[in-house]
Amino acid sequence: MKYTGLTYRPPYEADSLLLQVTAGCSHNRCSFCTMYRDVPFEEETLGQIETDLKEAQLYVPGITKVFLENGDPFCLPADRLAEIARLVRRYLPRVDRIAMYASVKNIRAKTDEELRELRSLGINELNVGVESGLDDALALMNKGYTAADAYYELGRLREAGIDYGANIILGCAGAGRWRENAEATARLLNETKPYLIFTGTIHAEPGCELYEDMQSGAFTEPTFGEYLDEEELLFTLLEPMKCFIFGLHPANVCRMQGWLHLEREKMIETIRRRRKGLEAHLNERPSRHGGEGEAGIR
Ligand code: SF4
Repeated sequence: MKYTGLTYRPPYEADSLLLQVTAGCSHNRCSFCTMYRDVPFEEETLGQIETDLKEAQLYVPGITKVFLENGDPFCLPADRLAEIARLVRRYLPRVDRIAMYASVKNIRAKTDEELRELRSLGINELNVGVESGLDDALALMNKGYTAADAYYELGRLREAGIDYGANIILGCAGAGRWRENAEATARLLNETKPYLIFTGTIHAEPGCELYEDMQSGAFTEPTFGEYLDEEELLFTLLEPMKCFIFGLHPANVCRMQGWLHLEREKMIETIRRRRKGLEAHLNERPSRHGGEGEAGIR
């Protein structure tokens, strides 16, 4: 299998075949992201994709899930994605779901009819970096879309029958704004109904704009207490929809997971216990020197 540079996938795609259809990210400008800074964006050739599928056919002929790589493969034109989906089904006939990372911008570039056709070919469970429901936070992160765009495009995705998982970033509105961010993000998620929510926190590695802003003081990360307040309010405001919350990233102040419609109270209780455990540090900001930006105490 061919992979260019580091290959990323959501934790819950561990059992999927990772099939490279692009290298890098077509946007590559989010202010907090360094994942593909050194990898030029390229489409993978159909010949290479077919070679990889033949190899997969030898080793994992019964696989049922494929995750297309890399940063935002849904940027590919619909006819290209349809061709890839047909190739996947030709070589791996038991595949019933083809997922990938996608952005709101990628959805905007496709018609309703194209979205429906892609769904009919098995493309589903897109992983979308929604991040926030606040316009200024989205602008600060340089996402390239507004909250209104997200409402509209995620609504079109839903109409086409494509389920989506939302990545959200707690604290991305900066210190002192936990309530606004929780309220705006909860509104967006309640309206667009993801099947999964991946919670992360705002942190940045050297080499991206947000890191510079944090160093210069232009952006201040929330305190432990603010992170916990934001997360508790978000979970309180979310409707009890059937949605899995995945919040185990090492950078999270409170790590947890569970079904929103079944385990909301349990998760809120976990946040409260974490707040109690951090009582002496609630006004401090996490240090980010561990692996993957782990949220440590200074
Ligand atoms: S769209 Fe995703 S991979 Fe691309 S720059 Fe933004 S966060 Fe990074």
